[in-house]
Amino acid sequence: MPKRIAIVEDEQELAALIEYNLSLQGFQAQILNGSGSTLRTLEQSRPDLILLDVMLPEMDGFELCRQIRQSEILGRTPVLFLTARSEEVDRVLGLEIGGDDYMTKPFSPRELIARVKAHLRREERDAEPAVVEIGPFRLDRTAHRVFQSGRELTFTSTEFNLLEFFLTHPGRAYSREQLLDSVWGEQRFVTPRTVDVHIRRLREQIEAHPENPRHLTTVRGFGYRFEDGD
Ligand code: CA
Repeated sequence: MPKRIAIVEDEQELAALIEYNLSLQGFQAQILNGSGSTLRTLEQSRPDLILLDVMLPEMDGFELCRQIRQSEILGRTPVLFLTARSEEVDRVLGLEIGGDDYMTKPFSPRELIARVKAHLRREERDAEPAVVEIGPFRLDRTAHRVFQSGRELTFTSTEFNLLEFFLTHPGRAYSREQLLDSVWGEQRFVTPRTVDVHIRRLREQIEAHPENPRHLTTVRGFGYRFEDGD
């Protein structure tokens, strides 16, 4: 499902430029001109993120943001203000009334896209439960700690992320490539063999007999699978 971004902006050229750049990145964009019915349209379309111009013809963007925050449907949707005004007072006001970020015109489409992605990632993380419990494992995302039968395990951040992935996707086999995509993402300078190295380190900590694993098993000719055990 592509993420949906609402662009509330009365400058048509700018709105079209933003829409174009968002679509290149696989987002689905909807342009709204900021007229009186904008809030209702947003509540119907339920975007994942709202780009909001401050100087709108019929309404102040700050006022619209206030209404968005009070809306039961849109209350938690990230709002990024777009504005030509750069005074500090506007920035503070915008954030105080519930905006999540602030872009001053002119901005580069690249920077805008980067901020949009960052806010969507944060939103996804916030939606996940802080604590994952499965079998003897208990992983606390907020504290970045993981326990097995009450004993704390210590991992590098990559190993923590890899174990987190397995704990939240039990019982399914994943290839090394799938693990690289899911855990290392775009910032990977690693080969599929790297996965094996990290799996070995995970096994050394979570398996009573790492050479004969019970939790993190090898799926021959394919990859790995996590089982909660017993
Ligand atoms: Ca405007």
